[in-house]
Amino acid sequence: MSDSVSTSQDAAASEAHELKPLEVVEQHLQQAFDCLQDLDRGLIAMLSQPKRVMNVNFPVEMDDGSLQMFQGYRVLHSQILGPGKGGIRFHPQVSGEEVAGLAALMTWKCALIDVPFGGAKGGVTCNPKCLSENELRHITRRYISELGDNIGPHTDIPAPDLYTDERTMAWVYDTYDIMHRGRNNLPVVTGKPLDMGGSQGRLEATGRGCLYTTERFLAKAGLCDVESIRNARVVIQGFGNVGAVVARLFRDAGAIILAISDTQGGIFNEDGIDLDAASAFKQAHGTVVGLPETRTITNQDLLGLECEILIPAALSHQICCGNAKNIRAKLVVEAANGPTSPAADRILNRRGIPVLPDILANAGGVTVSYFEWVQNIENEQWDLSEVNAKLKRKMYHGVDVVFDRWRQLAKITTPTIMETVVKPIQNNQDTFPSLRTAALVIAIERLSRVTLERGIWP
Ligand code: NAD
Repeated sequence: MSDSVSTSQDAAASEAHELKPLEVVEQHLQQAFDCLQDLDRGLIAMLSQPKRVMNVNFPVEMDDGSLQMFQGYRVLHSQILGPGKGGIRFHPQVSGEEVAGLAALMTWKCALIDVPFGGAKGGVTCNPKCLSENELRHITRRYISELGDNIGPHTDIPAPDLYTDERTMAWVYDTYDIMHRGRNNLPVVTGKPLDMGGSQGRLEATGRGCLYTTERFLAKAGLCDVESIRNARVVIQGFGNVGAVVARLFRDAGAIILAISDTQGGIFNEDGIDLDAASAFKQAHGTVVGLPETRTITNQDLLGLECEILIPAALSHQICCGNAKNIRAKLVVEAANGPTSPAADRILNRRGIPVLPDILANAGGVTVSYFEWVQNIENEQWDLSEVNAKLKRKMYHGVDVVFDRWRQLAKITTPTIMETVVKPIQNNQDTFPSLRTAALVIAIERLSRVTLERGIWP
């Protein structure tokens, strides 16, 4: 076997190994722990492990009368700051390990953005594209009844995620409400329809949070090539709940949306994609691919396009060590959860491409979920301008604390111009801290502080 063959096989093997969700979380965490030398080893072990893992197997009667078994999961990672909070995803690749990794991310996200929730996540292994509405409703109801009192307004509160939406959350609420008659059950789930206790602004909150974090970061960081969102060329992977909203909000803020994509591929137009036409086309054909006046590209081509801002808004691990060297964006904004592998993160960091990490960039969703929960408990309905103003404050503050902490960790004392101060240092140092490390350090410090303040039971 030649050296080059063995090297590429080694790289592929190590990348496959690296992409196990829990190991990914551990690798990201390790970089933060390295910056927190005084942290008690026992606390590290406690923060690294989920509090509770549930696997449920349940039957569903399908439309053709056959019976099919499904596997569901709910992982509660932490309740240190409050009840668990995290989405439910329906996807063929859902596994216990994936859900556990995503539940940990929720813990760091809530701690960083300062909402009083712990982390959780759930999912059912299924292919929603091949299921009727009736079958999806049966799966949701049976899954929620199997979880029983492990979810609840003050224990663990689900929300939408990949291939689930407000219709799914309405079924979650209804099932739980039937099981717990005679009390206010609205706060058991967020992302509900507006006329069922949903919050104004929740549907677009994740995308809006991305917009706010990006505009604040650009105002602070001084990237020479990207002064603001206006006229920036933006590339977005994924055109679902998050990706489609991100595209519209960035366009409305003056950006040129160069390319978008879905499972079937991407489309490109150097003058900007007509997003209204893209949405209508997707509605009619189930994909954006084939939209007139666009060129069809692959998802890999899309990730490597030259642009100012790249926004992965689809699945995990889309930017990995195999393609990180091809990224030509000046800034990556992680709308999806875990779209960058740890190895890719190191490559981008070394190349001086800042990554606004998922636990900051997509925290708008959980922030407005928290607002929805508060409104449900107080029997209130805030108007949209109030929700968005509160969201903006939270996201701006999140960027400010991460940026300040990152400068502190990087020992940068001058007013930072990333291009002139940071890139030369990054190019020479593998260990230069990333924005993700700074964000995780803030989250872990907060969690450890509160753990010690509360004391370890008994
Ligand atoms: P969604 O199901 O509405 O949309 C997913 C999109 O990704 C679809 O357009 C789909 O076609 C596309 N996609 C799937 N596989 C792909 C692939 N291999 N290549 C390219 N595109 C692909 O899901 P969503 O709610 O928009 O969630 C997207 C991401 O954002 C997920 O990582 C999710 O965890 C994260 N997220 C969502 C929320 C929320 O409020 N919905 C909040 C925080 C984070």
